[in-house]
Amino acid sequence: MSVENCIETLYLKRDNPDEITSSDLKNIPKSFLKYYYLKYLSRIWNLLPIHLQEDKELQQYLRCRRHPYNNGNVHYDGPPPRRIDCRICRNEN
Ligand SMILES: [Zn+2]
Repeated sequence: MSVENCIETLYLKRDNPDEITSSDLKNIPKSFLKYYYLKYLSRIWNLLPIHLQEDKELQQYLRCRRHPYNNGNVHYDGPPPRRIDCRICRNEN
C-alpha cells in the first residue's frame, strides 16, 4: 500500500480503531499517526511497524504501567498516566 492509500484508509478508519490492521499501518507517516491516532496509540501499538514501536518519542505517549501513581495525582479510577506525564519516567529520560 502506498503512503497515500495508507493515509486515506487510516483517515476513513480514524473513528473505528478496531478495524485497523497491521497492513493499514505499514506506511503510516509518524506525523499522521500523532495527529489522528495518538489517543488510540496503546490499542494499535502492536500493529505498528517496528521502526515506530522503537521511536522514543512515541513510546512517551504509551501508558506507564510501572509507576501508575507518580504524576502527582492519585488514580484510583481510570487509566494510568502516559509516560510523558509520569514523574519517574520523565526523570529517567
Ligand atoms: Zn512511569
